[in-house]
Amino acid sequence: MRLFVPGPVDVHPDVLVAQTQAMLPHRSEEFETIFHRAEANARKLFFTKYRVLITASSGTGLHEAAVRNFVDGRMLSCVNGGFGKRWYAVAESNGKKVDKLEVEWNKPITAELVAPAVQGKDYDIITVVHNETSTGLMNPVKEIAAVVHENSPDTLVIVDAVSSLSGVALEMDAWGLDMVLTASQKCMALPPGLGFAAVNDRAMARAAQVPDRGWYFDLVRMEKSRVKDSTPATPAVSLIYALDLQLKRIFKEGLENRFARHSAMAARTHAWASGRGLNLFAPEGYRSQTVTTVEHGGSINFGAMNAYLIQKGMRIANGYGELKDKTFRIGHMGERNLEDVKDLLAEMDLFLN
Ligand code: PLP
Repeated sequence: MRLFVPGPVDVHPDVLVAQTQAMLPHRSEEFETIFHRAEANARKLFFTKYRVLITASSGTGLHEAAVRNFVDGRMLSCVNGGFGKRWYAVAESNGKKVDKLEVEWNKPITAELVAPAVQGKDYDIITVVHNETSTGLMNPVKEIAAVVHENSPDTLVIVDAVSSLSGVALEMDAWGLDMVLTASQKCMALPPGLGFAAVNDRAMARAAQVPDRGWYFDLVRMEKSRVKDSTPATPAVSLIYALDLQLKRIFKEGLENRFARHSAMAARTHAWASGRGLNLFAPEGYRSQTVTTVEHGGSINFGAMNAYLIQKGMRIANGYGELKDKTFRIGHMGERNLEDVKDLLAEMDLFLN
C-alpha cells in the first residue's frame, strides 16, 4: 500500500526497523549521544542556530505549549483552515485572551491583512499555520513575520509547520520566526509521536517571564534538560532511534533535492487537476507543495474512488472537517516521489473516466 494521505505517511522500512533496537536508559551516555546528534541535525531542517525541543507528543501538544509559554496578555490567532481553527480553540481552552484574524478558507492570510491587525495591539504572540493541511493552502509566513516585526516589534511570531517542514524551505532565523513547531508523521516521514519546537533566544527569554506554563510542555524546563542532552520526562526512545536514522537519510538526499522533489510532485498534481477541469481549493500563488486539496463539490463519489485506489494499492484522503464532502486531498510528501504520483494520477484517471 502506498499512502497519499497528508499524514501519517509511509515510513521507510529501514527507519521502521531502527525502532526495534534494544532500549537504552534515557539517562545513559549512549542515549544522550544519539539525542544530541538528532537535536543538532534537526536544527538544519528549521534553518536555525538556536535549539529544537523534542517532545513525546503530536503537533497539537506544541500548539498548547506555544500559548502556555508565551501568552500572559493577549494573542492573535490567524485562521483560514481547520488547523488554525484548532489552534484558536487550544488558546481559548487554556483560558488565554485570544483575538481571531479569520478569512475564508480559500483565501490566504496576507501581510496586508496582518499589518493593521497587529498595529498598536501589543499582542504577546501571533500564531500562523504555514501549510493548512485542510485546504492545501500555504500562507506567506515570511512576509507576515516581516510586517509583524515592523508594526509590533515585541510580538513573537509562532508558526505551525506541521505539514511543511522538510518538504518546503522554511528559514526560521532568516525570516525572524520566534518558534516553529512540527510533528514527525508528515514530511519528515517518521511514525507519529514526536513533536519538534524550534525556539529562538528571544522566545525562550519571554517564556521565562510567563507564569503558569504548566509542567509537561514547559519550554524552560525542557531547555534545562536539552542542554544536558536530555528531556524532563521519559522520551520516546524508539522514535528517537528512528529520527536519528531518518535525519541521516534526509541529509543524504539533500534538503534542496528534497524540496525540489516535493515541488515537482505538487506541480504534477496541480496540473493534473486543472487538466481534468477540477478546481484546486487554494488560489494560485498560495498552493501547498505537500498536499493538494481538490474541490469537486460532491460530483465525485469519494468512497468509491478511494476503494478503487485501495484495490490498486494506493490511498488518498477525504476532505477535512467542513470540507469533507466537497473536497478530497492528495498528500505528496515524505517518501513519495514523482513516479508514485504519476502512478496515482493514472489510476485516478482510469476511475474517473
Ligand atoms: N497543524 C497542522 C497543519 C496539521 O496538519 C496537523 C495534523 O494534521 C496538526 C496541526 C495537528 O497535529 P497532530 O495531529 O500531530 O497533533
